[in-house]
Amino acid sequence: VVGQRSKNISLYETESTQDRKINLYSAKTGYCKMMMTQNKTSKKQKRFGAFIAIALLTILTYFHLAILYIAPTIATSHHVKPESMVLELIEANARIQLLESKVARQRHQSRVYQKYNVSDPPSQFITSKENVLDMLPSISQGGRLVYVITPTYDRLLQKLDLIRMSQPLMLSSLVYWIVVEDLSNKGSTMSHRVRKILFESNIPFAHSSSVKTEDSSHFRGVEGRNEGIRIVKKLGLPGVVYFGDDDNAYDYRLFEEIRNIKRVGVWATGLSGNGNFEACSLDSNGIVTDFYTNFRGRKFGVDMGGFAFSTDVFIDNPEWNINIAHTARYKMEDSIVSSLISEVSQAEPINNCSVVRFWHMAKPSIPKSYSRKVQMHGRNEHKFLLATD
Ligand code: UDP
Ligand code: MN
Repeated sequence: VVGQRSKNISLYETESTQDRKINLYSAKTGYCKMMMTQNKTSKKQKRFGAFIAIALLTILTYFHLAILYIAPTIATSHHVKPESMVLELIEANARIQLLESKVARQRHQSRVYQKYNVSDPPSQFITSKENVLDMLPSISQGGRLVYVITPTYDRLLQKLDLIRMSQPLMLSSLVYWIVVEDLSNKGSTMSHRVRKILFESNIPFAHSSSVKTEDSSHFRGVEGRNEGIRIVKKLGLPGVVYFGDDDNAYDYRLFEEIRNIKRVGVWATGLSGNGNFEACSLDSNGIVTDFYTNFRGRKFGVDMGGFAFSTDVFIDNPEWNINIAHTARYKMEDSIVSSLISEVSQAEPINNCSVVRFWHMAKPSIPKSYSRKVQMHGRNEHKFLLATD
């Protein structure tokens, strides 16, 4: 159910005195509407009941594992609330999908990455289109990828940030993670630290690098994002592009909810825009009219983590990337979104702009005890915290 569009599921529990009918709408948006009817059983209804039983059997076969999961609950309790049954069904189905995709990924992991040799410094690696289709078979059946483009750079908290980011991505089903290391620091090479986290995430990934130019150095991560865009275009699989910085906090459900964006989608974000949250506001028809934010003076008041766009923009404009010549300082997001749509009403609101699944995290202060002189397992504190196991 999760991640699919407008599936209607009907469950019927036939008892001697009543039929219960449960309709579930739009599981994709997480919005469930319950309808319960209670009737005395008549002959007509019994025939109808037989028809329904056959339909139910078909559905049960399709969701057999899910039903196996909730069957004991139905059998042992007559006081189960219908809504809890439906929610359990959704949960169970999501778990099945996740397990299926995990199995598929693990089956392919060694085949895809066997060439990696730890003794060499890592060089660019891009999981190929063929391998993505192998690892995520539902892409061939029209499933859309979510490309998560993450610029990153060498620092004390890099391992913390990338590990924290990789785990919600591992819980999502059709994600391609593009991590681009900023190698602007003199003499730096791509790191095993980053490659190992990518490798162990078991998701299709690209690991590449970028270097800041004098012009782009005002815009943190912009070269990395543009390198990510080049990789998305090269891969050529349809989907959605999302700029996910490495230092923020993500709920894995975000990646399920944005994959069907048609052009540009926007949503509410936490701790962003110099405030507790930012959110698009809607009129009574659900059209975006404005953005609630403490950082005014922007047409699109969104954080980098608060919007995503369809790869279709490359069909209209194959050269599209983040153009720093047209990027205002501190307003990179506004500049990017403005280059894709001109009116706020064109932005597609995700979850009615009412659910927060992303939080912009402030940089934590480094504890005072941090010192390059303290040794632990032969490593200084900096190396200890960043070491790969
Ligand atoms: N970043 C980078 N090179 C840098 C500084 C930052 O690649 O020199 C990346 C960083 O890892 C993050 C993104 O760019 O993914 C945004 O940087 P940061 O979180 O420092 O910016 P802020 O959130 O404070 O705007
Ligand atoms: Mn940040």
